[in-house]
Amino acid sequence: MNVALAPSTERARFRRVVIKVSGEALMGDRPFGIAPSALHAVAAEVRAAHELGAQIAVVVGGGNIFRGLAVAEQGIRRVTGDYMGMLATVINALALRDALQAAGLEPRVQSAIEMHAVAEPFIRGRAIRHLEKGRVVVLGAGSGNPYFTTDTAAALRAAEMDADLLIKATRVDGIYSSDPSQDPTATRFTRLAYLEVLNRGLAVMDSTAITLCMDNRLPILVCDLLAPGNLSRAVRGEPVGTLVDDGAAPW
Ligand code: UDP
Repeated sequence: MNVALAPSTERARFRRVVIKVSGEALMGDRPFGIAPSALHAVAAEVRAAHELGAQIAVVVGGGNIFRGLAVAEQGIRRVTGDYMGMLATVINALALRDALQAAGLEPRVQSAIEMHAVAEPFIRGRAIRHLEKGRVVVLGAGSGNPYFTTDTAAALRAAEMDADLLIKATRVDGIYSSDPSQDPTATRFTRLAYLEVLNRGLAVMDSTAITLCMDNRLPILVCDLLAPGNLSRAVRGEPVGTLVDDGAAPW
């Protein structure tokens, strides 16, 4: 479905945005862990988007270090693995905090699992206060609960913090009809309804995250994080990636 998008403005179109950055995005070309070049590239993109005037919170994943499901068959219980995964997101959150600071921003890390020596606990009101003061809030430890993903945590935080938009920043420039790296005929969707994403089984976010956004009428923009300027274009409301919403609002 192709929809004409509104003309761009120089300022942010959105007042408050939650950006989900996957662990993979911080990996660069490495097979594991954090590539400093990728980390600083992400920080530069966040800074550019922040300069447009949007309040920005980042929910960071941990898949570059650890995923709970991956160890579930290797003698570590799924629940234990999930807590290990959540701790991995905190490692990324701390690295991103430093990179954001080096980029000239004023970041604060909040963790859904309390660990006072390294991060503030996630407190909704305090997170919003940081945003209102122009600080970038980096949210680690996902939702604090096993059996969830950081995509769902991002949807949850975006909903509870009254964000106008959830940006799911990936390494491809939107949602495709099939995997573009496998299928040369794959086409990119410009705009999709939540239910279309669920019914077509499009592997962009888990169904819990999509459903949470659908129930709270929170639009999701899926776009390529590392294409320079992309995040800023998304925050300005320009046509990038794929928009997932209920189709009711003009875009
Ligand atoms: N995780 C969890 N609950 C949450 C968020 C994350 O248990 O609310 C665990 C889960 O094991 C997951 C891992 O943390 O595999 C890393 O998060 P995710 O896979 O979402 O990271 P990403 O793919 O975004 O890098």
